[in-house]
Amino acid sequence: MKDSFGREISYLRVSVTQRCNLNCVYCGKEGCAKKEAELSARDICRLVSAFAACGIKKVRITGGEPLVRADICEIVKSIHAIAGIETIALTTNGVYLKQYAAALKEAGLQSVNISLDSTDESTYRHLTGAAVLHKVLEGIEAAQAVGLAPIKINAVLMKGVNSDGAEELIALAEKAPLDVRFIELMPFSVSGEDKELIVTGAEILRQFPFLKPLRSEPGTARYYGAEGFRGRVGFINAVSRKFCADCNRVRLLCDGKVKPCLGDDTLYDVMPYIEDEAALVEQIQSIILKKPAGHHFEEQAPAHGLNRTGG
Ligand code: SAM
Repeated sequence: MKDSFGREISYLRVSVTQRCNLNCVYCGKEGCAKKEAELSARDICRLVSAFAACGIKKVRITGGEPLVRADICEIVKSIHAIAGIETIALTTNGVYLKQYAAALKEAGLQSVNISLDSTDESTYRHLTGAAVLHKVLEGIEAAQAVGLAPIKINAVLMKGVNSDGAEELIALAEKAPLDVRFIELMPFSVSGEDKELIVTGAEILRQFPFLKPLRSEPGTARYYGAEGFRGRVGFINAVSRKFCADCNRVRLLCDGKVKPCLGDDTLYDVMPYIEDEAALVEQIQSIILKKPAGHHFEEQAPAHGLNRTGG
């Protein structure tokens, strides 16, 4: 379905929980929604079906941390069975990925993005509040072993915090066929992140002249390759290079609210329509038509942090 700016909206990011097992310094905890406020697997499936009827083809499951939900494989399996859904992806911090990788693959998950802001144990612990780096690295290996693909490592660098760790992160793309992507820190008011902490993609790229641009492809990341690398290095410059004109996504939050734009705080509650598929589809269509032209991060920090919105 096209929105009012003629953009094909085909990508739904579903935050299945606001709970998280980590406490990342910049994620902007708004206090986690209680488990009972979360959509049931059944309601997630009904909502995704209605979105599929509006042209959604790709679903990314995110959170909070989606792997804290004990029914995550049931959720993946039910989404996989929805006609029209072609791709199911997951964004996770990777801590529980080793235990779940095989079952997620079996349930129909195709690809996984793993958040990893440092390969240094003490820096990782400082950033996330947990000494679990080894579990994330084991999770990446498990994802490769069961054949989830593509595997993308997402890293947020902050000046003076972990900005000296770019080289070790990039090395992950040399040794294995996975993408390492640097996401610019986004100024969510709840995280209160100062703009001075932002490390732009251009600043990182200047340090590694051996990275050469690859042919551009649809999506928010710009990719680079290097001689002898098995994977790629990507940059998602959400702050320094807006990509709203090509935006193809809407978000479903764990309490049944729809958020058409990451940078806009407007939420639409679709739960009153959950029992009437036709009314639900109509409501979703009207929400997609209200999707704003784009964010204004540079002026107005969104009120909801990404743990509420879903990364
Ligand atoms: N728990 C999962 C994970 O860690 O990937 C999914 C949710 S988490 C909110 C998704 C992503 O949002 C993480 O990669 C995290 O680094 C990113 N994120 C959170 N706050 C951010 C911010 N202020 N700017 C940029 N990325 C942010």
